[in-house]
Amino acid sequence: MKSLEPRLDRRAVIWIVNCTLGGTVGCTAFAMLITYYCTARFGAEVMETTLSLAFYIPLLLGVPLFAVIGVKMQQLALANRLLVQASRYDGMTGCLNRGAFTADVIDFFAKQNLTPPPISALLILDADHFKKINDCHGHLAGDAALVAIAAVLRGAVGEAGVVGRLGGEEFGVFVRSTDAAAISALAERIRLDVAEGRVGKGGCAYAVTVSIGTALFTYPAVYEEIFKIADDQLYLAKGAGRNCIRMMEHSCMPGGIRAMAEQLRSGFAEFDAHTVDAGGDGQASRLAGR
Ligand code: GH3
Ligand code: MG
Ligand code: MG
Repeated sequence: MKSLEPRLDRRAVIWIVNCTLGGTVGCTAFAMLITYYCTARFGAEVMETTLSLAFYIPLLLGVPLFAVIGVKMQQLALANRLLVQASRYDGMTGCLNRGAFTADVIDFFAKQNLTPPPISALLILDADHFKKINDCHGHLAGDAALVAIAAVLRGAVGEAGVVGRLGGEEFGVFVRSTDAAAISALAERIRLDVAEGRVGKGGCAYAVTVSIGTALFTYPAVYEEIFKIADDQLYLAKGAGRNCIRMMEHSCMPGGIRAMAEQLRSGFAEFDAHTVDAGGDGQASRLAGR
């Protein structure tokens, strides 16, 4: 059975050695200093004996004691790091889990006080007909497909944003600063890379596709609202036959206009229209269909 003891790296070992040496030398010096002041008046012979005791006793006790304390402290620090990692990341795909993804994005929303505020994008992706992949090729193949999709997402987004597994075969991508053309290109690249990558080997290799719903917006913004817009777009992409992208731009509209846009969106969902202008006051909402 694999040991559950956290394994220490080179940096941790160096820290333990330093802690052991530093602690032992400090204790020994302190013991000798105190001993010197207390026994100096009893003459050289007594002082020599007591000083040698003050030298050897802390040395003998200090080395194992500080070594054990150092090892335990480093193991605790490592265990804490692993716990934080386990609580933030999805073990299978290595993406942020839903809680950490949402928290990171909301945190970014809260810090936006730049003028002009950046344009950001939230993409929600869902693997198409994933149940069939499991049914036809097995759950291990399904898992491999999810890992492959996650790798495509991380590769495409890089340092520009964060990738999270929202649950099951659904992923979220948040891009901090972008524009409509760049985000369209990114979504299309992801769609193609996933569709062209094949999971499995030889005759068993099969393709997976994703549908993508995208919300393009600026700040101030409310995460739940932006999420709903991207989710609605994903729903439209599924309805349009899957393996495609639907995108909506969402300016920071006041409530009334937002409600109007909401109505327009549900109306357009029925007709699957491609472009809509939703504002007489210059604030536009656009469905960029494909
Ligand atoms: P749609 O195109 O409408 O999204 O169809 P779908 O089959 O992808 O959607 P549905 O919600 O019917 O099925 C999702 C499937 O994803 C069912 C579930 O077994 C599978 N799934 C969810 N999480 C995992 C996972 O971690 N590993 C594997 N192998 N399958 C998973
Ligand atoms: Mg699906
Ligand atoms: Mg799903």
